[in-house]
Amino acid sequence: MPGYGGAAAGTRPLAWVEEMSVRVARVARVTTTRAAEEAAGHARYTYRLRLSSAARVALLAEWSRCRWVWNECVARSKRAHADRERIGPAALDRMLTDARRVTPWLREGGSVPQQQVIRDFGHARAKAIKDIRDRLPMHRRAGMPRWKKRNGSAPTLNYTRRGFRLKDGRLHLAGGIVVTVVWSRALRADPSSVRVYRDTLGHWYASFVVSAHVEPLPPTGRALGVDWGVRETATTTDEAYDLPHPEHGRKTAVRLARYQRMMARRRPPKGKAGSRGYQHARRQAAKVHAKVARQRQDTARKWAKRVVADHDAIAVEDFRPRFLARTTMARKAVDAAIGATKRALVEMGRKHGRAVHLIDPAHTTTDCAMCGARAKHALPLSERTYACTACGASSPRDKNSARVMLIRAGLNPAGVEGRRPGCPPDSQAA
Ligand SMILES: [Zn+2]
Repeated sequence: MPGYGGAAAGTRPLAWVEEMSVRVARVARVTTTRAAEEAAGHARYTYRLRLSSAARVALLAEWSRCRWVWNECVARSKRAHADRERIGPAALDRMLTDARRVTPWLREGGSVPQQQVIRDFGHARAKAIKDIRDRLPMHRRAGMPRWKKRNGSAPTLNYTRRGFRLKDGRLHLAGGIVVTVVWSRALRADPSSVRVYRDTLGHWYASFVVSAHVEPLPPTGRALGVDWGVRETATTTDEAYDLPHPEHGRKTAVRLARYQRMMARRRPPKGKAGSRGYQHARRQAAKVHAKVARQRQDTARKWAKRVVADHDAIAVEDFRPRFLARTTMARKAVDAAIGATKRALVEMGRKHGRAVHLIDPAHTTTDCAMCGARAKHALPLSERTYACTACGASSPRDKNSARVMLIRAGLNPAGVEGRRPGCPPDSQAA
């Protein structure tokens, strides 16, 4: 934006600034709404379910039928592979139709969730084949769909539009299953599909898909660069938005370790069901995990909301988990916190029609944000300051990376500094 200093010297500075900002706002609104409509896509709204014992039994029966269909798909595709014949979704659909004709037990269940299983299987198999064709390294391949065992798979049922309806606040599923939804917030639009599932703690949820509703925010004329890190989850070009690592994992690590020791002591021999004590310890450990995940998500969403409200454009490192293969709880916690924060930022940006640029992390730590020169060697992690040999500039390592993100996204780093939140351009000029 042009300097506001000139306006102060004019006769009617405020009018000039107002006209200018209205024009900028109009342009920005047009581009954001158009980009937002394209990028918005779908949103998920998830609610807890309260189940009667009849509904629970019916859902589990439905799941066991779906599991049978999945395992039949696995068997069919293994056979096809051995016989060197091709198998597509059409053949699997035919298989389901035939199976339903000759098996009354299968016919008792709704056809919608069973057809969805075939679709999911198709997607999983196509992804595995694509990974092989792309010659991805083994640890990044999705792998062929495998058997779903009775005790090793959590129930998940998918219903498309013709498989469910909402009536009097209750969810009616195909096959006459009725469940009570805890409407913790309003469902914004008519849902196009719903997934009913049980988590590791045994709680049931319904997750509705609705077309996303964009809630545009007023333009701010500001941009932010974000770098992910270990000590600070997010280091940004503006100190006010730095996010220290919340260490939710560390605070609960003691409890988690206790339950994991309990599990190890009570672990059942291979092939045997776990004892009651083992199941108890497993459930407690799952509870701790779930709690940490919720805390992370909460911190991430609050931060993302603040960042998105105060900036038109955000450039972030397109982080991929680095430490998952190499363990230690602390490093996994860092990865999980960054993953949750990045996800929250992308979702929040989409929701409010802001531009979130994902930047390839290659060389972001070796490039100079001032002159663009690239250092010959990557800095060791212990080195906290980036000193450029070409232009002599020196700045904290993470701050330098955050600025590189901004430049890579084509945003102007000069416009970033010198303007503080809560101090809009109008008040600077006046
Ligand atoms: Zn430099």
